[in-house]
Amino acid sequence: MSAVRLVLLGRQGAGKGTQAVRLSEHYGAPHISTGDMLRSAVAEGTEFGRKAAEIMARGDLVPDDVIIGVVTERLAKDDARDNGFLLDGFPRTVAQAEALNELTAGSGLHAVINIDVPLDEVRERMRQRGRDDDTDEAIDRRLELYESETAPLISFYEAAGLMVQVDGLGSMDEVFVRLVAAVDGSTSAS
Ligand code: ADP
Repeated sequence: MSAVRLVLLGRQGAGKGTQAVRLSEHYGAPHISTGDMLRSAVAEGTEFGRKAAEIMARGDLVPDDVIIGVVTERLAKDDARDNGFLLDGFPRTVAQAEALNELTAGSGLHAVINIDVPLDEVRERMRQRGRDDDTDEAIDRRLELYESETAPLISFYEAAGLMVQVDGLGSMDEVFVRLVAAVDGSTSAS
């Protein structure tokens, strides 16, 4: 199969990042993580990076127009044009999803996959991973924003006939096998 164009959704701590890396290798499509891109900007210490760092430390979302600009530039690069993409962490709001629709107007998305893990379980996983921005307050804020801003994307993409739910409980390998089955099922149907 050539050039898959996928979006991965899932609560923080659902295993999205890890699975995105594996899926990216499996399908030969670049893994585009807005969180990783923002963290590199922070590490570079640019003006933009400093602003992003404050927002991320609070667990808030970077403004839509800013992140849409970042993703627009990234998707215009040759690797994404030629080999498709696996978006991880974008879109996170309906405005971002609408922008992505415009960006992919010619080619379209193959599927949007939600890695489903219950709230109690992700809360526990996040406490254990102990990333710098994983303070209790930031965790609560990020999960709250996920429910209010990002969860509505599930109905948005259901309406578009693109939504696929995958059970995110179990080992990394078990979840990976389910994801590949979900992607292959949806891309062969389209
Ligand atoms: P997590 O899934 O644990 O929130 P990410 O690495 O995806 O981790 O994102 C880290 C932070 O980067 C988010 O809390 C948010 O502040 C910012 N961010 C990432 N992607 C987006 C986006 N699409 N829109 C707005 N902010 C974003």
